[in-house]
Amino acid sequence: MPHFSYQHGELHAENVPLTQIAHQFGTPTYVYSKAALVENFRSYSDACKKHGRGDDGALVCYSVKSNSNIAVLNLLGKLGSGFDIVSGGELLRVLAAGGSPRKVIFSGVGKSREEMCLALSHDILCFNVESIPELHRLNEVAAELGKKAPISLRVNPNVDAKTHPYISTGLKDNKFGVAYEDALETYRVAASLPHIDVTGIDCHIGSQLLDDAPLLEAVDKLIELIDTLAAENIHVHHLDIGGGIGIDYDGDKPVAVGDYLARLFAKIDAWRAAKYDGTPIKVLFEPGRSIVGNAGVLLTEVQFIKHGETKNFAIVDAAMNDLMRPAMYEAWHGVQPVKQRDAATAIYDVVGPVCESGDWLARARELAIEQGDLLAILSAGAYGMTMSSNYNTRGRAAEVMVDGAQVHLIRQRESAADLFALESLLP
Ligand SMILES: *Cc1c(COP(=O)(O)O)cnc(C)c1O
Repeated sequence: MPHFSYQHGELHAENVPLTQIAHQFGTPTYVYSKAALVENFRSYSDACKKHGRGDDGALVCYSVKSNSNIAVLNLLGKLGSGFDIVSGGELLRVLAAGGSPRKVIFSGVGKSREEMCLALSHDILCFNVESIPELHRLNEVAAELGKKAPISLRVNPNVDAKTHPYISTGLKDNKFGVAYEDALETYRVAASLPHIDVTGIDCHIGSQLLDDAPLLEAVDKLIELIDTLAAENIHVHHLDIGGGIGIDYDGDKPVAVGDYLARLFAKIDAWRAAKYDGTPIKVLFEPGRSIVGNAGVLLTEVQFIKHGETKNFAIVDAAMNDLMRPAMYEAWHGVQPVKQRDAATAIYDVVGPVCESGDWLARARELAIEQGDLLAILSAGAYGMTMSSNYNTRGRAAEVMVDGAQVHLIRQRESAADLFALESLLP
């Protein structure tokens, strides 16, 4: 993980020893590197610029659900990022972080009237619509507000993203998007509604994709559809390819973002030159994991070492409520001791204190550790804090962002009192 490295036998985030962060803020704590975030965002924005796409030609809409801390959103917004949201709450976060609603796209299969109303009143860039009933609801809400809702249809290109079934979204049999075969008819409906303005087309085929071939295949299908629509006089002005580029969790070798974008833009430019006299089409991206995933670790302390009959357990103070991915997807996260010990290793399952057998963070890891040691759970910047819960009345972890030699607290640790503050006794 760039920007997380050992210096004098001790793991640092940029120039700050993780030990210092644990002393200052306690554990468990999510630790993010500002430099890593900036670098990862720039891998997209620089590639767009390199291929001659300024603000009119491309927009990176960071996927807020991957890590929605307002300091993260603010930082990315200042770098020019737009935002892909999936709820009204995420829109309010983007606004609180100073993000521009004109760069917001709204995805998700179940948008409520209230959420549509909120998004319309802020004049967001586009609604990524996923069904015909949603089109009708949006048309009604826009009519009540005297507005036209800009939309793109999330089309399901039916390509196999070759990723975990829980995070694959582009195949026929999942809840997302409009089937490819139904897309034309759905666009006809959209074009017929007076308070709907067809502006784009989008897809998002899955997550943690290591290869860009499925994405390029999806673009081919979208291109075909855009041509069919144009023949019916339905013109889309942007093509949104979604997110999905993976990160290195366990020696994985994801495609370099710059290489993927070079191939993508070459394909799109060739098509526009052949069919539209070179008139460009705006390209949107919705990356999440590839921007934040390897920009953060979860810092935790070993509470006890327990030698079971067949296994050794390192019981740590972070748990499935802090980092849900292992319990939910059997996801693999690297585990590194903050201080390297010159001692014998043993094989451990790293588990939390929550009362569930599914409460594990890592299995069968060779570690040289003792009670009281600090561990870093790696690659935890995406879908870590945002998927956390208060199960077992555990306050959520603190979050800090490191910038060079400085550490900024960007979310306080929740206290137990915070957790029941909204509850009340019977009268
Ligand atoms: C989750 C999501 C993303 C981000 O996916 P990553 O794999 O984190 O890049 C993008 N678009 C939509 C619609 C999503 O649901």
